[in-house]
Formats: sequence, structure tokens, C-alpha cells
Amino acid sequence: MRKLIILPLLILLFFSGCAINPVTGERELAIIPESQEISIGQKNYSPSRQMQGGDFKVDPVLTAYVNGVGQRLARVSDRKLPYEFVVLNNSVPNAWALPGGKIAVNRGLLVELNSEAELAAVLGHEIVHAAARHGAKGMERGLFLQGAIMAAGIASQGKNFADYVVGGAQVAAGLIHNKYGRDAEREADYYGMLYMSRAGYDPRAAIGLQETFVRLSKGRRSDWLSGLFSSHPPSQERVANNRKNGAALPPGGEIGRERFHQKIDFLKKTKQAYKDFDDGRKSLSNKDYNRALSLAEKALAVVPQEGHFHALRGDVRYLQQNYNDALINFDRAVSKNNNFFYFFLRRGMSRTKMNDKYNAKFDLESSVKLLPTATAYNELGNIESAIGNQQRAKEYYQAAASSKTQPGRQAYNSLVRMDLPQNPSAYIKARPRLNRTGYLLAEISNPTTVSVNYIVLRIMSRTGQVVTKQIRDTVPAGRSLIVGTGLGPYSSTAVLQNVRITVSQARIVQ
Ligand SMILES: [Zn+2]
Repeated sequence: MRKLIILPLLILLFFSGCAINPVTGERELAIIPESQEISIGQKNYSPSRQMQGGDFKVDPVLTAYVNGVGQRLARVSDRKLPYEFVVLNNSVPNAWALPGGKIAVNRGLLVELNSEAELAAVLGHEIVHAAARHGAKGMERGLFLQGAIMAAGIASQGKNFADYVVGGAQVAAGLIHNKYGRDAEREADYYGMLYMSRAGYDPRAAIGLQETFVRLSKGRRSDWLSGLFSSHPPSQERVANNRKNGAALPPGGEIGRERFHQKIDFLKKTKQAYKDFDDGRKSLSNKDYNRALSLAEKALAVVPQEGHFHALRGDVRYLQQNYNDALINFDRAVSKNNNFFYFFLRRGMSRTKMNDKYNAKFDLESSVKLLPTATAYNELGNIESAIGNQQRAKEYYQAAASSKTQPGRQAYNSLVRMDLPQNPSAYIKARPRLNRTGYLLAEISNPTTVSVNYIVLRIMSRTGQVVTKQIRDTVPAGRSLIVGTGLGPYSSTAVLQNVRITVSQARIVQ
């Protein structure tokens, strides 16, 4: 596995080599070419947003405003990239940048800011992460690959949708959990303030912002710890550095306090509704359905156009097995926002419960296009299996089975049940062993979740001689069994290298 990864990097190294960092002007190794950096950002921008709650659709003016501030800074940055800025529908105070200049800020961070200059401080900092290749450098050091592999582990502790992501989208999960290290953070703070100044903002707003962060981190609010502070630990040292940097920059500049508060007015007015929604989600996971429902109603009374609120109501109805009402609510969620995977996923699941397989399939496929999840693939596998399309069902189960989540395990189970009888050697392994008197044994291992019996072993020697042997014993799920083959005795252990044993038949114990 390791070698496979290193080889393409070596090829890239040969062709690229040394380059000047566009931000710092320092010579450094650049393995990943810019075109690839940009395409990584483009490919992962959408799934990254999906798994963080999706775009904040109900206030498009806000997103346009944030993008405007971002572009104003991007224009004076040291590197031209296809910069983009979006607001995510997420209460956790956080912001992130993908390689290639794809940047996102959560509404939960925006409500904590006090001026346009503070917003510029956040965005300027993220622009530097992209412009100075901090993400790309992390990838070159192999951190990115670790991140992608670790994504499932990280997600299982979290409460976001990254848990269920499978396939290529796991890369996106790794990217947004990327940590840059202290030097990169210092660089982002320093050049972020420089860009603020160049763009006409008062860079000293970054000092106040950092002070706010230090204060908030003392409160140890769990949403802060899981968000911005996990990747950007605030410290008195950073405040001091910002103060020093600020003193060296020309005085004055725009603050834009009034304009900013005008733009986030809707966010402030609806802050409680989104808090009710977050509490409703918690109530739902604690199985307090009545409270979850009343919080959803309360939130909907304030922001009836928010798809997430309708979906919360749908989730309650679904868990109460009231699938008809669930469908109505998820249908409303889709009609408010037809660009979020979860609404399609849940509408599809409700339709499955109501036996509307045709439309369920459409919804589940739509959800997978937005974000591939084990949940959707498992549901699609069930539908294909029910209509007798075994091959498609297997492919869907296969896609879900890599996930360690409950739907992933269910899919693996279904896949084994469907595929093992026809394809036993893919699941049940056998290897040769010798006993003390030189007779050949077979160690049969069954890593699956079903027990098997009536196993037929195919024992093949190097010369092509084949002996078959039927085993009547049961090999329980997750266990192994050593059986005699009757072959032997052999005088040397060399026979172990010359014999191959495969499982040509096995039956699932029902
Ligand atoms: Zn940072």
C-alpha cells in the first residue's frame, strides 16, 4: 500500500522539484503541481460542504456579502487562485480552506464576529492557508493520506454526517480535518493581516478577534472546541504576535461595524431558532421525540423556509413510524433546498417504507450524487435485491460495506449472504499446515458475520494434482477451524509452499 502511494509522488518530484512559495517568497519543495492543487479543491469542495450541513440557503444575500469580502482580499493576495467563499448551515464556529482557494465559513462563526474587518481577518487567514500551499504541503508530507484514512475514525466521535461517507468523499472528510501546524498558523496570521491592510481594512481587527477567541476558549464551549479551536488553538502568544504585526502596518483602515451587523441581522434574529433546532437534534438522539418535535415547530415558526427544520420534524415522524407524515416533511425540505443530500436520503427512506421503490430509488440516487453515504448505498442495495437485480444489489452493498457504521455493517451482512454461496473463496480462506506426524491440515478461517458448513476444500499441488475434500463441521462467524485432509505424511515442510487450498463450496448456516 505504502509503495503504491510513494511511486507517483516520486514521479511528480522528478518533474516539479523546487519552487518559490508565492506568499513568503521562500524557495521550497513543491511536489503537487498547481493544476492538481486546484482540481483537488474543486473536486472536494461540494462533498466537504455537504457533510458540514450544506450551504446556508435561506439568506443568499449573506453568502454574496461574505464572498464579496473574500474576493476583495483575494484580489490583493500573492497568488491568483479560483477563490470561492460560502456560508455553511452549521452552528459550530468554524472556517476552513481547501487547497486551490475553496473556503467556507459557518454561520455559527459569523454570529460571533463584530465587524467586517473581523470577518476579513478570518477570511484573510484562510486565504493564506490556500495561497501559501499549507494544505498542499500537508498532503506532500503524507498527512493528507493519513487524514483520508483516519477520517472514519474522527467522524465516529463527531456528530456530523462525515460518519457515513464512503468512497472518494472520505478524502474530503480528511481534508477538512487537516491541521496545519504552528508555523503555518503564524504565517496565516501574519500575511492575513497584511492582506487586510492591502485591501483597505484595519488589520488591528485581527487583534480584537484573537482576544475574543482567547476569552471564548476559556469558557470551553464544546462547539468551539470541536470547531475552529481544534485546528486553531487561541493563545496569548497569538494575540501578542498580531499586536506586533499590527504595529508595523500603516495606521487606519475600514472597520465596517455597522455594515456587518446589518448583513448578519437575519442571522442574529434567527440565532435562537437555530439553537432550538440543534437542541431538537440532541433530543432526537436521546429519543425524546415530543421535545424534538416541539423544538422543530418552534424553529419553523421563525424560519419556515429552512429545510433542516422540516427535516427534523420528518426525522421524528420517521422514528415514530409515521412514514406518511415523514414523507410530507422531507418533501417540504427538498422543496426548500434541493441541493442537500440528507433531504433526498430521508425522503427516499420514507418512500421505501411506503413501498414506493421507484421514487425511492430516484431520491437515493440523488442523495448519493450529492454525497455518497453508506446509508444510501445500503438502502439502494435493499431495493435492487427486492426487485431481483442481484448484481446491482451487490455493487451497492460493496460500496457501503467499507463503512464501519451500522448501515455499513448491514450492507456487508447482506453482501455476504447474497454472494458467499456463489463466491465462497472471496470470504472463507484456507491455508495449509502440517501436524507433528507430517500429515497435511487445513486451517479454515471465517471472518464474516455468518456461520458456514458443508465446506468443500480444493487442494492443489504444484504439479497440478487436485484433491477435493468435504468438511461437515461448522465454522462459526468470526472463527477459524483446523481440519485434517488425510494427505501425507510428508517428510519436509516444503510441502506447505507447494500446496494451495481454496474453498470451492460453502453453505450459510440458516
Ligand atoms: Zn489556520
